[in-house]
This record gives sequence, C-alpha cells and structure tokens, in this order.
Amino acid sequence: MKRTLLVTAAFATVQLIHAACPTPLSVGAWADYTAVPYSFNTSTIGGPYPNQYNPLSWSSLGGGQSDVQTALVDWDSDNYANNTSFVSFYSASSASLRFFAYTVNYPGNYYADPQVSAQTGEAFWAGSNIYAEATTTFYYDGYNTTVGLVPLTMTAPGYDAFMIKATLHEIGHTMGLADNLTGTPGQSVMNPQAGTNDSGNNLASFPTSCDNLSLPYF
Ligand SMILES: [Zn+2]
Repeated sequence: MKRTLLVTAAFATVQLIHAACPTPLSVGAWADYTAVPYSFNTSTIGGPYPNQYNPLSWSSLGGGQSDVQTALVDWDSDNYANNTSFVSFYSASSASLRFFAYTVNYPGNYYADPQVSAQTGEAFWAGSNIYAEATTTFYYDGYNTTVGLVPLTMTAPGYDAFMIKATLHEIGHTMGLADNLTGTPGQSVMNPQAGTNDSGNNLASFPTSCDNLSLPYF
C-alpha cells in the first residue's frame, strides 16, 4: 500500500490560561482494534558536534526507555479500563511505532534545534486518516529561545516523570488527540509542558477523563 508522510505539530512549550475539555482532536489515529508494534532505535545518521544531532542509544538515557514503556502501558490500561479506542502496544523488532533520541548539538539555533522535547511524525495509509506508522523523536539538551529554557535534559529534576508525560503526549497524538493548548494544569496529557522537564507540572501523568472523552473511533 502507498503511504504519504505528514509531519504533525511539534510539542510546544507554552503557558496556559483557559480551561477546555474535552481534548481537541488531531488529524488521524491508529485504527481501532489495532495492536501497534513498537521499537527503540538508534539512528545511524549524525554524530557529535559539528553534526546537527548526535544519535543517542537508549541504554545511555537512564530510565528513559522504561519511562517510554511505562507510558505505553498507561495508554493500554487506560484504553482497556475505559473501553476507548481499543488500541494497544507491544514490543517488536519490526515496528510501526519507532522511538529515537538525539542530543541537539546547536542549542537554540533556529535552523538546527527543533527547540522542543519531542516530535512525532505519522504516515497515513493512502486515502485514509488511519496511521500506518509513526516516529517519535526525543531531543535532549536543546534550548527553546522563546521561553528561555532547556525543554528536555537528564541533568535536571523530574527527568523520568517527564519522559513518561512526554511519551503520553506524543502517543496521544497517534491516538487521535491534538494539543490541548488552553487547558488547566494536569487536565490532559495533551497539555504543553511548562518549564524544563515540565517543572511546572502542567502535563497530566496519566490519560485523563478529558482525554478519554475525546478519543476518536476509526
Ligand atoms: Zn503535541
């Protein structure tokens, strides 16, 4: 089958004001009753400075890999408990959902630093809004010049908790949810982060009723 690639919005770092529930919808999602295989990967592209990005192995990221897995299990159990979406995730070598991690070698550079913690790009099955595959990339030690902070780093408090929250957010995009830019703190996993490693604790640490009410059916 043919696939067309569409890159969705980045995980922005913004402050919030108003309440909005349920969580807004995204442009597509995994098909319902789908078990999505996932894998942890290390890119062979790039390297230390002066490359743009230095690929990181998951074994070098502390609890990062198990944090991602925790978030996947959280989505599994939430979907099961609430009878929503019917999507589940399992580890496999040939995966539709792939995780990568990089160090940003030019922090704050407009062209070389995405200035976000993570991004997810999805590929649709042709002629549908069903995702065939998705790639979530974490960017370590970049610098967001708009808000003046490092979005994601192992060397600040809250790293593991944030990796779980950031993954819940990115997977939320693939579950059919959009950014919840006007929510209250903790209202949705789709809230934006506030502070390095979400030190302001703006992201929910488990899918919420707002999220469950929004999950689309495909
Ligand atoms: Zn987002």
